[in-house]
Amino acid sequence: MSTTLPERTEIGTEIACSAEPPHRTELPRICPAPRVPLVTGESVPYANLDLAASAPPLQAVADHVAELLPYYSSVHRGAGYCSQVSTSVLERARDTVGRFLGARTDDVVVFTRNTTDALNLLARAVPGVVLSLDSEHHANLLPWLTGPHRVLTAAPTIAQTLENLRAALAADPVALVTVAGAGNVTGELLPLAEIADIAHAAGARLAVDAAQLAPHRRIDIAATGIDYLALSGHKLYAPYGTGVLIGRRDWLDAAAPHLAGGGAVRAVTVTGDEAAAGWAPSPQRHEGGTPNVLGAAALAQACRALDPVIDHDAPAHEQALLERLLDGLATVPGVRPLRTWADSTERVGVVAFTVDHHPAGRVAAYLSAEHGIGVRDGKFCAHPLVDRLTGADEGAVRASIGIGTTADDIDRLLTALRGLTKRGARWDYEVVEGRWAPSPDPRDLDPLGLGEARPGATPGAPACA
Ligand code: PMP
Repeated sequence: MSTTLPERTEIGTEIACSAEPPHRTELPRICPAPRVPLVTGESVPYANLDLAASAPPLQAVADHVAELLPYYSSVHRGAGYCSQVSTSVLERARDTVGRFLGARTDDVVVFTRNTTDALNLLARAVPGVVLSLDSEHHANLLPWLTGPHRVLTAAPTIAQTLENLRAALAADPVALVTVAGAGNVTGELLPLAEIADIAHAAGARLAVDAAQLAPHRRIDIAATGIDYLALSGHKLYAPYGTGVLIGRRDWLDAAAPHLAGGGAVRAVTVTGDEAAAGWAPSPQRHEGGTPNVLGAAALAQACRALDPVIDHDAPAHEQALLERLLDGLATVPGVRPLRTWADSTERVGVVAFTVDHHPAGRVAAYLSAEHGIGVRDGKFCAHPLVDRLTGADEGAVRASIGIGTTADDIDRLLTALRGLTKRGARWDYEVVEGRWAPSPDPRDLDPLGLGEARPGATPGAPACA
């Protein structure tokens, strides 16, 4: 299992766009999507335009996990052959993921469940005040509430936001500045190297929520000056339950263990009625319990598969489709794409929009029920930002693309939206337990034959939609 990592480029390098994506290296394949039923009785290939929420696995990732399964065994303390193989897979995965993201050699790579988990871990390790923007995903807002924190309102331009950041740090220094590399509502990119300079000049460190950036752009932690980076495997085509927090050791080693338990300690003693632990250094310090070896291996394999294409071919493919989507949306009457910053020049394939006179949830239900298209609707767990951008309680619709998205997927969305705004929906929809749904919904929603969930066992729509 060797990893070849190429020369790195800076995040935000302009990607040349053309009508047809110029594939110099074939993009890795995605596990094929199924055909899905429509309310009208036909079935169509699923058009997955919801990659920003969770991306399907790369075929290479699914194959790797299948190949690994016979060897799967306990890690770290097992003397058996398969335990030793599994331990080596886990530790190699740490190395592969760190190198793919340009981590410094002395950075710690902690496997977590996801970005949310990684940022919660960091929140308990920060020795001071945290400053975030109000445009962040809740995962990069709420963990900081457990300690001293401040929120800076994003200005209408990136330039003004950075000016305000400089001023805020000069007036009142903080320990950590934290921003998303790419927004999960509008996909707009922030100039991370510049923000790192601003933070460092004020004596602060920079944490980057890379959940949306990592699937779309090469990230170089060291060259960009990022001190901590968090991401989720399930958005990086490795949906096997692992994320990472990568960053500087000192805060992580000084922090209380994120998950106290077996594996996180060097020694445990009991004196009288008190137990005491000598905690291990990071990453083990924060990874108590049995680690998710398959998740870590899947994430590492995704990094290996993306490595040859993430500098150019994957972003070029995506940008061509993004242009097609934005150009097409501009021709659909009543469709209004959202934007956080008037001066942003780069964005990944994430586009949120509203449709005049059509509630976002109903649009999403229509796209699914009548066209077999999966999008997201609501406020995307970024309530402060979406409230500001839409001025409405209903939120927006979000289409998000990546590797595996085709021009046909985009065209199907555009055709469906044109049909909706011109003729309206062909089916009825109603709000059921807080979500728009087709009424009736004749589709078989149990294609695997697992049976219905017990009545009352499935909660309604989550509050943070
Ligand atoms: N940050 C951003 C920018 C996101 O888009 C998301 C997921 N939507 C998260 C954090 C949280 O990721 P997870 O649910 O995998 O913890």
